[in-house]
Amino acid sequence: MDKWRRRTRAVHAGTRRSRYGEVSEAVFLTQGFVYDSAEAAEARFEAAGEDEFIYARYGNPTVRMFEDRIADQLGYEDAFACNSGMAAVSGALTALLQAGDHVVSSRALFGSCLYVLEDILARFGVEITLVDGTDNAAWEAAIRPDTRLVFFESISNPTLEVVDMAQVVRLAHARGALVLADDAMATLVYSYARECGADIAIISTTKHVDGQGRMLGGAICGSRDLIRGPIETYMKHTGGAMNPFTAWTHLKALETLDLRVRAQAEGAARLAEALADHPAVSKLRYPTHDAHPQHALARSLTASGGTVLAFEVRGGKPACFRVLNALEIIKISNNFADAKSIATHPATTTHQRLPQDQKDALGISDGLVRLSVGLEDPEDLIADLTAALGAA
Ligand SMILES: *Cc1c(COP(=O)(O)O)cnc(C)c1O
Repeated sequence: MDKWRRRTRAVHAGTRRSRYGEVSEAVFLTQGFVYDSAEAAEARFEAAGEDEFIYARYGNPTVRMFEDRIADQLGYEDAFACNSGMAAVSGALTALLQAGDHVVSSRALFGSCLYVLEDILARFGVEITLVDGTDNAAWEAAIRPDTRLVFFESISNPTLEVVDMAQVVRLAHARGALVLADDAMATLVYSYARECGADIAIISTTKHVDGQGRMLGGAICGSRDLIRGPIETYMKHTGGAMNPFTAWTHLKALETLDLRVRAQAEGAARLAEALADHPAVSKLRYPTHDAHPQHALARSLTASGGTVLAFEVRGGKPACFRVLNALEIIKISNNFADAKSIATHPATTTHQRLPQDQKDALGISDGLVRLSVGLEDPEDLIADLTAALGAA
């Protein structure tokens, strides 16, 4: 498989065929497996070989195909597939940490990730230091010789801050800390986690992998030692495994991921251009666009700013709500990376419960809109958005 390019491997990597020689990957919708003899069962429980399964919470042939394919796409040796992005984030963190450990994390985090760090892990005696993820000096000051693990979102949600990943990885590794990158925003196609040396990349496959608003899923990608060691042991005993039907839809979705993400990212770049000089827009954030304060860093890391942009409507919440309510194609919802374009007002939905001072610190203003660009014709999306902005 190694000699083929990524798009080819997205269609073929990990495929395991049954004795029927099916073309499309089979969905093995089974919890358990039958053994030829009592001795065979005993041997399987002693040491399950490659392609030998015991129970779907531990592993399943369809899930295994998906794990191999997603690990390959991100350039990692192995992956463990989980039943949601949060099962992957909380599983990876809990599997690798113990009481007394120190963690440094960027402050601009998805709300549930912040809850896992600040509430759950702190409750079990893990010390957490939060830093401004865009400030390399802050990372350097916070990472200590006894820091066990460093965590961040490669590109933060919803304000699209970019972490200087190669530099943060260098700082962490110099002090012996593991680096976990929550890579949901980066999209698989434009991900640079492996290239920058992140030990583990965590993906909410709910986002670009599914890409069509159907399935919840997640994956923890890393070295075979980490994935089949502490990660698998923790995940298989605590019940966060992906179900085979989700793995099957994800396998089919990976076949088209590159085409979808490239089309969505191209649409997002065009919408960013259209919004940049619009009089109703006071601020635009798209990682690789000139208007983003970190555009030089973003361009050095990745060929595309991704499928999501953020902008501020002049006139605060009332003007912003008028714009959202005037949209015809773009739907008001709270997910991203769907084939359908989605507009979100983070201040009153996904980040409603965040205290005002933290909203201010993260730039989540009353006029902020997060826009996930789907697969519609970009010309129609630009027309929809500019017409709606007229209502501001
Ligand atoms: C969506 C998201 C998650 C959680 O994923 P789920 O699949 O919804 O559990 C975690 N981190 C980031 C950055 C996300 O965008």
